[in-house]
Amino acid sequence: MYTNMYMLTYEIACDVVIIVGEHKIAMRAHKFMLMSRSFEFYKMLSNRLDDHPAVLHFPDVDPEDMREVLSYLYGGRLNIDANKACSILYAAKKFNLKGVIDEALSYLQGEMYSENVCRILEVVHEHEENTVYNRCLKFIHVNAVDVLTTRGFTELCSTCVENVMKPDNLRADEILIFEALLRWADAECARQKIQPDDKNRRTVLGDLVFVIRFPIMDINYFTERLSTSKLLTTDEKLSLYQYYHGKYNPMLLKHFNTNSRISNHHIPVPAVDQNKKTFVEPNHMAVPNQTFSGDFSIQRLHRFDDTSGEWRNIGTDAISFKCSKSIYLHGAIIFGPARAEDTYKVALSVTDDMKKLLGKNLLTISTNVHHRSYDVTLPSAIRVQSNAVITVEILISGGASYRGVKGKDTVDVDGIQFVFINSNRSSSGTDITMGQIPGLLFSLV
Ligand SMILES: [Zn+2]
Repeated sequence: MYTNMYMLTYEIACDVVIIVGEHKIAMRAHKFMLMSRSFEFYKMLSNRLDDHPAVLHFPDVDPEDMREVLSYLYGGRLNIDANKACSILYAAKKFNLKGVIDEALSYLQGEMYSENVCRILEVVHEHEENTVYNRCLKFIHVNAVDVLTTRGFTELCSTCVENVMKPDNLRADEILIFEALLRWADAECARQKIQPDDKNRRTVLGDLVFVIRFPIMDINYFTERLSTSKLLTTDEKLSLYQYYHGKYNPMLLKHFNTNSRISNHHIPVPAVDQNKKTFVEPNHMAVPNQTFSGDFSIQRLHRFDDTSGEWRNIGTDAISFKCSKSIYLHGAIIFGPARAEDTYKVALSVTDDMKKLLGKNLLTISTNVHHRSYDVTLPSAIRVQSNAVITVEILISGGASYRGVKGKDTVDVDGIQFVFINSNRSSSGTDITMGQIPGLLFSLV
C-alpha cells in the first residue's frame, strides 16, 4: 500500500492523466491501479491501454473529491469530514465505488446535527439513498424546533420540505412550522428572482401551503398574520374561520389537515410508583452492591465514543442488542441533563424478540451537574442467552440530555461481543449511531 501511495504522490511511472473540475486540474495516476480497483475505470480504460498517457476528463468532479477517490483506490482509506462526505458521494457514485459510498453514508449518519441535517437530507435525496434519507427525516421530526430555524432548511427542495412538514410527528408548534415555511418561501422567491410578498410566496408554495395545519393554529395569530394577507385565498380563509367557529365545511376545508401533531405534551409521562423501591444514582461510576439482588460484579458497557449537543427526551428511546455469551442484564445507562440539575422520571423495560416483557422498572433520578450518565437498574437481573435479541426501552420525562454520537455497532467487553441493532420501537431517533441509552449494566454468568 505504501509503495502504491508513494508512486501516486510522486507521480512515478504514471500512464493516465485525469483532468477534473471547471479549472481543468490535471492529476496523474496508473491504469493498473484504477482498473484493478474500479470497474468503471476498467470500462473507461480497457480499450485505451496503448495510449500513453490515456487522458480522462471529468469536468463535473471536484478536484478535492478526485484526490480523495484516488487516495482511497491506492490506500484503501478515506480522510473525510461531514462536508467532504456530502460532496464525495457524487464522485463515489460516478465511479461506482461502493466502499466510498458506504463509508460516506455511515459518516453522515454519525455526524448528523441540527445544523447540517438538511444538507445531508438534500444530498441523499439527490442520490436516492432512502435509508439515510428516512434517518434524516426522523432526526428532523424529533429535533424540529432546532432544525426548522436553520439556514439549511430554507435551501431544501420542495419535495423535501413537504416530507419534513407533512407528518404528524413533526414535533413543533404550528406557528413555528408556519414561520419556517415562510422563510423557505422567501428563499425560494429569491432563487426565482421575484419579490417576496405574500402573493408571490403563495405562487412559489402552491399546494405546499397545505402542509401547514391552519385549523389547529392559534386563532389570534391567524387573524393578525393571515386574515388580510394574500397567502391564502378568500375561500380558504372563509373555510378556516368557519372551522374556528365550529362550522365544518368538508368541501371548503378539504385541503386542510385538522389533526393535531404529536407534540411534547402528548407524550405519556411514566407514573412513578412511590411504593416501589427506586434507585437514585448520582454518581455514574459507583453503584452500591445492595441495589442488585445476588452477588454480582456489575460491569458497564458504553456504546458511544463521544457526546455532542443535546438530546430532547421526547418519545421512546430503544436499542436492541445480542451478545456472544450468556450474561445477566441488570439495567441500562442513560444520559443526564446537559445544562442544569433536573429530576428525571424514567420508565425502563426490557423485551425479547417475541416482544415478551422480561423486566421493567420506574425510577426517579435526581441528577446533578457533575455527572453525564446514570444507572437505571432492573428490580432483578435478567439472564440473557447468547445470541438472543434483547430490546432495552426507556421513556424519560425531563429536560434535554446529553446526546451520544459516534456509536459503535459492536463492543467487546471481557471476551464478550455485544452487537447493537436498531429497534423499530425507538420513536425518538435513538439508534446505533446516536441518541440515548449510552450503555448497559451486566455481569458475567
Ligand atoms: Zn430534496
